[in-house]
Amino acid sequence: MDYVYGPVPSRRLGKSLGIDPLPSKTCNYQCIYCQLGKTTIFTNERKNYCPKQDIIKEIDKVLTKDEHNFDYLTFVGSGEPTLYKDLGELIQFAKKRTNRPICVITNGSLLSEKTVRDILLDVDLVLPTLDAGNNKTFRLINRPHPEITFDKLIKGFMEFKESFTKKFWIEVMLVREANDSKDELLQIKSRLDDIQPDRIDINVPIRPPAEKWVKKPRDNMLQLLDEIFGDYKDINFPEMGTFGKFSSDFEKEFLSIIQRHPMRQEQIIKTFKTSKNTESNILKMLDILEGKKIIQKNIYQGMVFWKLKST
Ligand code: SF4
Repeated sequence: MDYVYGPVPSRRLGKSLGIDPLPSKTCNYQCIYCQLGKTTIFTNERKNYCPKQDIIKEIDKVLTKDEHNFDYLTFVGSGEPTLYKDLGELIQFAKKRTNRPICVITNGSLLSEKTVRDILLDVDLVLPTLDAGNNKTFRLINRPHPEITFDKLIKGFMEFKESFTKKFWIEVMLVREANDSKDELLQIKSRLDDIQPDRIDINVPIRPPAEKWVKKPRDNMLQLLDEIFGDYKDINFPEMGTFGKFSSDFEKEFLSIIQRHPMRQEQIIKTFKTSKNTESNILKMLDILEGKKIIQKNIYQGMVFWKLKST
C-alpha cells in the first residue's frame, strides 16, 4: 500500500486507519516541533500531489474487507491533507465504503477557504491545531507560508465552527519558552473562547521534534493549565497498542508507517516480531536501513525512536 497505512494506535482516536494523499513532507507550515522533520515541499498550492485514482483504488481495496478493524478512518500523514485538491472526492468515496467515522487531522490554515470548509463539513471529526494566540508566536512556532496570516487563520476557524455540526477538537501543542507562559496561554485561551471548539486537547512534543532545541514545558504546569483552560484533555502520554500491517514484508510495511509516524523501538519490535522474524533480526534490519541512510535513530526523552532520514 502506498497511501493507506495502519491502523496505528492514536491517543485520541483509538485505532486509526490512515490515508495519506501527499508525498513526504508537503506542508504550508514548518512547525518547530514537527515529528516528521523539516518541510521539504513548502507550498500553499492546493493540487493533487499523487494520482487520485491510485489513492481511490487503495481505499477501495482496504474497505472491501468485511471486517473493519479500526475506530476512525483518518486523512492525515506526510503533511497538510487539505493541500490535496480533490480531498473532498476521496472523503466522499470513503464515506460510501465504510460506516466507521471519518476524521481529518489538519493544521487548520486552509479553513479560511470556503472550498476547504465545504469539503470538511461532511466528516465526523475535524482535529485542527492552534498553538498561538498572537501573530508573533504563530510565526515563531508554526513558521507558516507567507500567504497565511494569523487573522485569516482565526477567522477561518470561527467560520468553520459556525456551520460545522459534528465534532471539532482543537489541539494546542505547548513548547517551553515559546508559548507556555501565563500570558501566552491566556492569549490562546481568548482565541479559543472566540472559536468555541467542542474540546481542547493539550499536548507537548512527545516524539523527536524538527528542531533539536524544542523542549517540553516544565512539569509544574498543571495548576496553571487547570486555572486557564478549565475543562481540557491532557494528551501528554505515549500512545499504546499495536500497529496494523498489510503484508509480512518488514521493510515495506515498516517504512510505510514511519514515513507518517515515527515509532519507538519497542513498538517496532512488538509490531513486527514473529517466530521467524526475531527481535535480533529486526534490530539487524534497522541497522542495515540506517547504514543505507534510509532511516535515522533518535534518542528522545530516554526513548529510542526511528524515523525516515531527514534530507
Ligand atoms: S506538525 Fe503538521 S502542520 Fe506542522 S509542519 Fe508538521 S505536518 Fe505541517
